[in-house]
Amino acid sequence: MTRYVFITGGVVSSLGKGIAAASLASLFKLRGFKVSLQKLDPYINLDPGTMSPIQHGEVFVTEDGAETDLDLGHYERFVGIKMTQDSNVTAGRVYSNVINKERKGEYLGSTVQVIPHITDEIKDLIIRGSKKSDIAFVEVGGTVGDIESLPFLESIRQFSLDLGKSNAIFVHLTLLPYINVTNEIKTKPTQHSVKELRSIGIQPDILLCRGRNPINQAMKNKLALFTNVSKDSVFSAVDAKSIYDIPILFKEQKIDDCIIKNLGIKTKKLNLKPWNDYRSKVSKCKKSVKVAMIGKYVDLVDSYKSLNEALYHAGVLNSRVVEITYLDSEKITSANIKSLRFMNAILVPGGFGNRGIEGKILAAKFARENNIPYLGICLGMQISVIEYARNVLNLKNANSTEFNIKTNNPVVALVEEWKDRSGNKIIADKNNLGGTMRLGSQECLLKKNSLVYQMYKKINIAERHRHRYEVNGNLVSHFDKSNLVFSGISKKGNLMEIIELNNHPWYVGCQFHPEFTSSPIKGHPLFNGFINAASKRKT
Ligand code: GLN
Repeated sequence: MTRYVFITGGVVSSLGKGIAAASLASLFKLRGFKVSLQKLDPYINLDPGTMSPIQHGEVFVTEDGAETDLDLGHYERFVGIKMTQDSNVTAGRVYSNVINKERKGEYLGSTVQVIPHITDEIKDLIIRGSKKSDIAFVEVGGTVGDIESLPFLESIRQFSLDLGKSNAIFVHLTLLPYINVTNEIKTKPTQHSVKELRSIGIQPDILLCRGRNPINQAMKNKLALFTNVSKDSVFSAVDAKSIYDIPILFKEQKIDDCIIKNLGIKTKKLNLKPWNDYRSKVSKCKKSVKVAMIGKYVDLVDSYKSLNEALYHAGVLNSRVVEITYLDSEKITSANIKSLRFMNAILVPGGFGNRGIEGKILAAKFARENNIPYLGICLGMQISVIEYARNVLNLKNANSTEFNIKTNNPVVALVEEWKDRSGNKIIADKNNLGGTMRLGSQECLLKKNSLVYQMYKKINIAERHRHRYEVNGNLVSHFDKSNLVFSGISKKGNLMEIIELNNHPWYVGCQFHPEFTSSPIKGHPLFNGFINAASKRKT
């Protein structure tokens, strides 16, 4: 039987519930339990696919092609299990399921209501997401007190009632603000947050208190008294140097033992070696390597969450601290491009829309002409193809039809547009943008004598996609005799998946997103190779 650990958040958002949930799940996986993770998101969108990365952060793509919350990326990286379509449930999905059932007559005769119809649907989705694991960790997005989260909180309250107290427990992650002037840590916001939870029938079993410093026993006693939580179930969750230290920090406080006690399960021996080894590798990283990331969503680092993590992982595996300089592609001009010379490597990440495109093209050109290691991801690969077509092959005004629908050299275009060779009038349906992408993991075959083959050391790879446009199969012959090689091609042979330059030390573009499958322990072949090349470059 599956047991459930629900994780809620109090006082403010962005406390790191996802990392806390992932760290706890990791400790149980390393004890040999079968664990699952799921995120419940209270917003109305069916999925975050149509949201701006600047508002919501990165959209994490699962192997089976779901566009999900970035916390699922932490789950995969910390626990090493694959998330699926069922691992992220939004209020929009719940309501859409219920409305579909209502239309099919499944509730014939009843008035469809939040309780029990919406809450029953949520409970069903929680059971489906738990995948018959021993322990399911379920994170409720948002902050206790938000109107939107109420149906979710009501559902997990019912869940614990249905299953019995010790089969479903509640962990509340909260903030203890520190007041500088009086040198005090305040417990009042946490008291109120727990009061709010208790008013809807949820008594937290465990409190994880976020703050800059650990809290002492007196503070724990006070919190316990006011929140009705046992004194030995109040813990500190301090800011860590690296997020990958958090499983160790949780273990040091025996938070996992407390969960085991609350769930009333038999303990198994914990093997913390992978995290201890990782920590010791991190401590050996002294030298730094500078990567310029030429993006559009540079104001919110969370927009490139998995990418930042993948670079960091590759840094650790190369004994380097990766320093990322985020540069707004709109501000890059031919006058200031030379400053990139001081970078060890240049990365152009994924993106949508034509804002900042010309700056990215300048950066790709600069990397190509100056032998600077370059990694272009998704849009970043398309940029390289456009740049090469324009500046080396002299295909005038070469472009993607995403940016210029009238270009007479559409080297990147929607597959439906490839057929139109006239080049003048390509009409794309841009009205229906939700769920119209090439998504999820797909197979790709590598050329044996290529740079990427040296990285992956195998021919058959599978990587995750999230894009609409492709290198135009009708125009690839233009590149035949050039130094730009299509070194990875889709299994069917029609889609260009990887490009590289065979007259450059390390220049790779990939149509997929390798960052989604990088892990702290293994990194990812492309990022490991990229950072290795970057550390060899003298600036
Ligand atoms: N906008 C491009 C496309 O849709 C690239 C997408 C991306 O970088 N994820 O094909």
